[in-house]
Amino acid sequence: MEKVAIVTGGSRGIGESICEEFINNGYKVILNYRNSYEKAIKIKEKLGENLFLIKADVGNLEEVKVMADFCINQFGRIDVLVNNAGISQIKPFADITEEDWDEMIRVNLKGVYNTTKAVIDLMIHQKYGKIINISSIWGEVGASCEVHYSTAKAGVIGFTKALAKELALSNIQVNCIAPGIIDTDMNAEFNKEELKKEVPSEKLGTPKDIAKAVLFLASDDANYITGQVLGVNGGM
Ligand code: NAP
Repeated sequence: MEKVAIVTGGSRGIGESICEEFINNGYKVILNYRNSYEKAIKIKEKLGENLFLIKADVGNLEEVKVMADFCINQFGRIDVLVNNAGISQIKPFADITEEDWDEMIRVNLKGVYNTTKAVIDLMIHQKYGKIINISSIWGEVGASCEVHYSTAKAGVIGFTKALAKELALSNIQVNCIAPGIIDTDMNAEFNKEELKKEVPSEKLGTPKDIAKAVLFLASDDANYITGQVLGVNGGM
């Protein structure tokens, strides 16, 4: 039986690579995007008929429910949810406005609540599910000038650990990946050579480094792993 995965924020960077990895391993994949329609179409052309594009703002529960309903109607099951969609912003705390704060929490933390809420009844009914949340190393150790981002990503870790305990008996595993510095649009404004100096391996991570870890956590080889935070960070 082909497994079905939803990947939020699949139109660029890490999410795109996760979609590719799932397709190459026989999954049916719902690629969620918000703004990057042209990029999503190009990925669809590349990855083919087992990839389905759904536009939804993860911060909007109604839009997310439409996405989950499409998946349920089309396939009758959802095996994997990857909460990858995210935004970042670099600002000293003193300059973070209430709007900045609310938007960061809405997308990066409430988005995880929304998508999980939309799929969880089905996963419990199936007695099978893998939820993989993309947090960040900054959610573990904190990043200067990213207090709102670090807070949201720390929240994702708490969410993961608590939900893992609650759903373990339903055979649903909930885990987190905490990437270090990955070479995507999110870091485009930084000097790459300077960034590498932050990493013990002196290399930036690639989206594929994260996608391979996601594929493992989504697999039945990881059935006894739940409530964990897997750092993929070159030793940071
Ligand atoms: P990216 O290249 O900026 O891509 C972000 C993705 O998230 C895009 O596909 C974007 O979709 C989507 N997205 C943003 N807001 C959304 C919303 N409200 N609803 C639905 N989709 C939304 O970022 P990335 O580097 O691949 O990051 C992916 C995840 O890894 C994020 O959660 C990020 O915080 C985390 N992370 C990244 C790094 C890093 O160094 N890059 C490190 C640690 C953690 P559209 O373009 O279609 O709007």
